[in-house]
Amino acid sequence: MKHASNPSRRADVIVLGAGIVGVSTALALQQRGHAVCLVDRNAPGRETSYGNAGIIQREAVQPYAFPRAWQAILRVAARRGNDVHYHLRALPSLVPALARYWHASAPRRYGPIVNAYAALIRHCIDEHAPLIERAGAQDLVSKSGWLEAYRTDAAFEAAAKEAVEVAATHALHHAVLDSAALAAHEPALRRPMAGAVHWQDPWTVSDPGELVARYAALFERGGGTFERGDAQTLRQSGSGWTVRTAEGEVHAEHAVIALGPWAAGLTRTLGYRLPLFVKRGYHRHYAVQAMPARPLLDAESGILLAPMRQGLRLTTGAEFAHHEAAPTPVQSVRAELLAGELVALGQPVEAQPWMGARPCIADMRPVVGRAPRHAGLWFHFGHGHQGLTLGPATARLLAELFDRETPYVDPTPYDPRRFGN
Ligand SMILES: Cc1cc2nc3c(=O)[nH]c(=O)nc-3n(C[C@H](O)[C@H](O)[C@H](O)COP(=O)(O)OP(=O)(O)OC[C@H]3O[C@@H](n4cnc5c(N)ncnc54)[C@H](O)[C@@H]3O)c2cc1C
Repeated sequence: MKHASNPSRRADVIVLGAGIVGVSTALALQQRGHAVCLVDRNAPGRETSYGNAGIIQREAVQPYAFPRAWQAILRVAARRGNDVHYHLRALPSLVPALARYWHASAPRRYGPIVNAYAALIRHCIDEHAPLIERAGAQDLVSKSGWLEAYRTDAAFEAAAKEAVEVAATHALHHAVLDSAALAAHEPALRRPMAGAVHWQDPWTVSDPGELVARYAALFERGGGTFERGDAQTLRQSGSGWTVRTAEGEVHAEHAVIALGPWAAGLTRTLGYRLPLFVKRGYHRHYAVQAMPARPLLDAESGILLAPMRQGLRLTTGAEFAHHEAAPTPVQSVRAELLAGELVALGQPVEAQPWMGARPCIADMRPVVGRAPRHAGLWFHFGHGHQGLTLGPATARLLAELFDRETPYVDPTPYDPRRFGN
């Protein structure tokens, strides 16, 4: 970073937030020759990007839609099942965003969303691969896919049928494993399952927080600056933006908001009303003697068993609640019981489950591009269930828009102006 004669130091771009999205943004801009200052109040990759299931989900061409069938809605409302939980007291303030989510999930609107999403998802591995290589992170990555497993025949048969269609439409590699084939694939399973869909294209990461830390180290080795600071100190000054960090003030022509689930606070302060909400999720690690070879989703229980460096990570589904409300890890407690039926779980590694929040947008698409009403300000957040997957892919899109290059995917579905702000 250039040290000018005034006490405020200069960069070309300030990137706020050092999760997978912010770090990928910093790298993509740096690669195009821009001097970037990356700012976070924590070390890189310690929040949502630390606690996820670690899957680079090449198969995730269909973002999670709001259920449209009344039976499914009633099941969620009655809190039957472990995949979804909610805080009743949070619902009134969540209703506007959830209503838009429900609206966007109608089949005729959802189809085009899937097409747009699939156009991005297909690049996820190609965008991660060179970063993994340059960051020396190959030891964290496995290329053997993940398993979507079912307990009951009816659910397995329906899922296998759908997988065949999705795989054919989107050129994905998969295998349908019956009960015996699944048991042979995963000797750690101690309960017979009906079967599984093996998604073979995705890569999996045994410590996603460490992956982000290595990407951030790559950025710093390339001459980028990482500083601790509070994004809420961002203010417009002169023709650009200034933020206060532990090192003093940093000024740049451009600033990118990549604050994941915290983007709502800063964008609201700047006068934007965006349909952002969070789906909280929990995880806890367990010591196990026999680790599954690859992540395994117990689809009917809404839990995912992910082999990690810290132990077997049990991650939970969605909890609709205020972002900052106290943790209510009921899904995590049930996850422990349900996972104990599948594998021999040892002691938990942590005293309490970890909690994070997926940064979701009502129309299921991340927000990538220029802020509608502030020169030099950029939005890059809202990656929902697939931020680890998509961080480098949307970072490339943002960098191409930044440099006014022809973008490699159509940016329109991700344009911040789509909310009419
Ligand atoms: C249980 C669970 C499982 C998941 N599994 C997967 C998966 O398998 N695959 C996948 O692709 N995705 C998965 N996800 C989603 C994925 O983790 C997120 O989409 C992604 O991590 C979001 O990244 P981000 O960089 O936008 O946000 P974060 O990683 O949260 O980064 C935001 C950063 O902003 C910083 N920040 C916030 N406020 C301030 C402030 N005021 N000043 C300075 N800095 C600030 C934070 O410290 C943080 O570092 C999962 C999520 C959960 C919860």
